[in-house]
Amino acid sequence: MFADIIVDISHEKLDRVFAYRIPDGMLDSVQIGSMVDIPFGNGNRVTTGYVVDIKETVDFDESRIKDIIGLTSKTIPINSTLINMAWFIRNTYGSTMNQALKTVIPVKYQVNQKLDRKIKLIADETTVNEKLEVYGRKRAVAKIRLLETVVSVNEIDYTYAMKVLKISSDVIKSLEKEQIIKVEENIAYRNPISIKQKDLGQAIELNEKQREIADKIKNSLGGTPKNAHLIHGVTGSGKTEVYLDVIDEVIKKGQQVIVLIPEIALTYQTVKRFYNRFGDTVSIINSRMSAGERYDQFERAKKGLVNIMIGPRSAIFTPFSNLGLIIIDEEHEASYKSEQIPKYHARETAIYRASLSNATVVLGSATPSVESYFKALSGEYVLHELEYRAKSSKMATVHIVDLREELEKGNRGIFSDKLNELILDRLSKKEQIMLFINRRGYGGFVSCRKCGEAMKCPHCDVGLTFHKADDSLKCHYCGYTIKKPEKCPKCSSKYIAAFGTGTQKVEDFVKKQYPMAKVLRMDMDTTSKKNAHQDILESFADMEADILVGTQMIVKGHDFPNVTLVGVIAADLSLYGNDYRASERTFQLLTQAVGRAGRGEKDGEAVVQTYSPDNYAIVSSANQNYKEFYEQEIMYRKLMDYPPAGNIMAILITDENQEILDNASNKLKEIIEKQQKNTNLCYNDMKCIGPVDASVSKINDLYRKVIYIKSSNENKIIDIKNYLEDVIKLDEELKNVAVQFDFNPMNGY
Ligand code: ADP
Ligand code: ZN
Ligand code: ZN
Repeated sequence: MFADIIVDISHEKLDRVFAYRIPDGMLDSVQIGSMVDIPFGNGNRVTTGYVVDIKETVDFDESRIKDIIGLTSKTIPINSTLINMAWFIRNTYGSTMNQALKTVIPVKYQVNQKLDRKIKLIADETTVNEKLEVYGRKRAVAKIRLLETVVSVNEIDYTYAMKVLKISSDVIKSLEKEQIIKVEENIAYRNPISIKQKDLGQAIELNEKQREIADKIKNSLGGTPKNAHLIHGVTGSGKTEVYLDVIDEVIKKGQQVIVLIPEIALTYQTVKRFYNRFGDTVSIINSRMSAGERYDQFERAKKGLVNIMIGPRSAIFTPFSNLGLIIIDEEHEASYKSEQIPKYHARETAIYRASLSNATVVLGSATPSVESYFKALSGEYVLHELEYRAKSSKMATVHIVDLREELEKGNRGIFSDKLNELILDRLSKKEQIMLFINRRGYGGFVSCRKCGEAMKCPHCDVGLTFHKADDSLKCHYCGYTIKKPEKCPKCSSKYIAAFGTGTQKVEDFVKKQYPMAKVLRMDMDTTSKKNAHQDILESFADMEADILVGTQMIVKGHDFPNVTLVGVIAADLSLYGNDYRASERTFQLLTQAVGRAGRGEKDGEAVVQTYSPDNYAIVSSANQNYKEFYEQEIMYRKLMDYPPAGNIMAILITDENQEILDNASNKLKEIIEKQQKNTNLCYNDMKCIGPVDASVSKINDLYRKVIYIKSSNENKIIDIKNYLEDVIKLDEELKNVAVQFDFNPMNGY
């Protein structure tokens, strides 16, 4: 027998399968998914590899095939569904198979397991009494102590016996030999959820509309997974209750469920709702867990000890054997697309995984991605709408403030008159306020007011941001940090200042303007410590502060019933990004921000400050009108052939040498154009744009160029990507620069 093996080295040149012989003695142990030691290359250096296929014959000279040395010790085999997903990811998003395999197996090595040992009574009453008599005669006090305790409670903990009862392991062994007790060993998996199981089983009765949606989804279980369901429902409309109802049905059928929730929304409250309903068959994973904790959760899933896995993007790789349902909440979130190679999208990957096991996919969002809504309208997905909040139907009143007019009135502060008026009102009523600004630090770029010199990062083509807490200037791309210079390095003037507004500046401004208010700030700088995120949210929920200032971290998925005012300081900040999703992102952020106001009994208001009060993303988010936004946005996408009207492959080329980079990018472009002209292949509608400098043209001392390929046909784009991957491997000039592919990117380059 022979094995096809992917060598555990991520190099384009080695990105293919190598055949090895499985020696007779290993036929039982080597399986698809095993990790094995193999002799590799001319020197036969021992290397590891993954078995991705097993077959009886090979197409070439068998005598030249090397033998597998053995299983790599302490590794865990990957299941074949995950290998299949790795091929899909490799092919669609571009990477080596080895990188794709590493993505689908979050833990490669077996982590030391904790054992849970118990001592159990196995002898009957008469034997026990006889033994006690014998021990009494022999004055075997330790044996008596152990046996009496075990008899009284039937089962005791091994460590309890050793530490508290002071029984030696010899004594335990001797009683075991006499067949009075037995020692049972179980693997003690770490359980990440520490919630007391008090309200278990309680289900809310669905309203008519929720019932209808849940029933439709349940009726489709086991059908064609490609027809994912999209639930478009405002925040608080009861989508989660629908998920819970459908999950219940799937669990009853003996199948398993994966629930994807963006990490930032994966809070105690969310997990608790699932746990209260389904108890400890629920598990979670998140990025803060140790390798051991993650390993345990996947083991529990594999062994069938849990049926529901909740987690961010990577939970899609949970090794369930009988998956029935995948739920993706907040399906529009950018965090569902990986930022590392392979840049897979969890939604597309989920639909692929579902197709392998006939599972159903349910997507949910208050602001669906333009892609998903487009597919829902075209009938590829099934669309369900929940228009009203389940509890109170009131939406916040939104005021759009034109910042140009404020300036004309002579208001040079950060807050408009309207926002100031409402802040004072809420402070006097002891109601809470959230202020949202999409930029951390003290402001935008830092420059000299006299000569105009901008303080830039020496390693990246971006300006440095002022951080007041440690009086430093930081690069948000590479982390480069310097003390804020006293004088301008060019003209020695001391007027160096930060322009624009960031979270720290807003915080300072609030403190100055409203000294009586207690203020909390939440952004990447205040949440770097473990649990800091949760601590800030909890103290705000406990009314320890009047105002919470923060970046998008504060607008996602948190429910604060006492917040009745939301201020968006500068709605334009995300509008002029360099990519086609800028309007969509702005709409989503603003809708979420505005939706934070008035989640309780009291009515909410929101103030959206902007320089472009007529922009459709801003107007439709203020009206909380998704369809109005979608109609405008899809027109623009169609006009420009942007997804979902077309497909884009971004090709990022980087090198530390600018000239080498220029030559390589030009050559790549020529290769693409030549291939395009290849008439047999009919790349008629394909467009190739670039190479151009990336919008950040240098990061970490690497220069960056980008080429875009656009086509209405997804398969054509994947074809040409595969072709380029092959060409790059062999081309002397191209193989030394780094080339990355990004299919339908979430962010611009
Ligand atoms: P979403 O997931 O759409 O944000 P949730 O499912 O979290 O909405 O529901 C919002 C709130 O309304 C929750 O507190 C939930 O318990 C409650 N709720 C949802 N559906 C119902 C219902 N049918 N009856 C009563 N309360 C409900
Ligand atoms: Zn200067
Ligand atoms: Zn930098």
